[in-house]
Amino acid sequence: AVPSSPVFRFAPSPNGALHLGHAYSALLNEKLARETDGRLLLRIEDIDQTRCTPALEAQMIADLAWLGLDFTPPHRRQSDHFDDYQQALDRLIGRGLAYPAFMSRGDIRAWISDQERATGKPWPRDPDGAPIYPALDRHLSASEREARIAAGVPFAWRLDMAAALAMVGPDLSWVESGQGPSGEHGIIVADPGAWGDVMLARRDTPTSYHLSVVVDDALQGVSDVVRGRDLFFATAIHRLLQHLLSLPAPRYHHHRLILGDDGTKLSKSKGDEGIAALRNAGIDPVTIRNELGFR
Ligand code: GLU
Repeated sequence: AVPSSPVFRFAPSPNGALHLGHAYSALLNEKLARETDGRLLLRIEDIDQTRCTPALEAQMIADLAWLGLDFTPPHRRQSDHFDDYQQALDRLIGRGLAYPAFMSRGDIRAWISDQERATGKPWPRDPDGAPIYPALDRHLSASEREARIAAGVPFAWRLDMAAALAMVGPDLSWVESGQGPSGEHGIIVADPGAWGDVMLARRDTPTSYHLSVVVDDALQGVSDVVRGRDLFFATAIHRLLQHLLSLPAPRYHHHRLILGDDGTKLSKSKGDEGIAALRNAGIDPVTIRNELGFR
């Protein structure tokens, strides 16, 4: 067989301005694609339609072009493809791997604090530090579920992690050519169970980050996922969903994060080191590339 050339992607969420952290990630993707004679695709991750706007998307694309980044068309915009994520969700529901989750954030918070008070023990947290979903509604009967839905109780869809784990062997792993937060490298054994019953579709959005990222990486034929180290542990969820949906496993490369002067992660909301601000200050793209280590 003719080996196909690698496919990389840069996948920003246009919920703020493009900042130096994005630039680093995009430029590293560009460099690795060049070195391997691969292609670099652009994906706009705008499923959160309250925070992502067409104006921010246009600004991001303009900033990327100004940096000299060139993406192979077509660009994929997630909000144009909700049907693709719905189909994947329906497959998981059809196999009994997803359930309607009725607990609101307030319900979750109240239930966990009661629990912590009663047991004197902290409630388990996921690798991002968020509380594991208590999953009180995982075992509702079909009729109880239907009654709640008929009564208009809002719900999200969550993965039944225990049922999902029962379908994977101990060999769920990925090849990491970058580094995890503790220097993890090489073949990484995935531990999706640490995340509990993750969200597959939100109350107000027919998908979630995890679901749409695995569907899109497969539909776009992505062979190499190059992204920030903050997503290293989430890769376990992505590998699990790929397995459950019979999607191919890309290679992964998690890279260092570009930190602000205060040592914390740059954030779009703080407006840190926005590329547009640097441009307005008269800094040129070559200087930014050099500063980030791409000559
Ligand atoms: N959209 C995500 C972000 O802006 C990146 C997702 C990914 O690379 O898998 O951080």
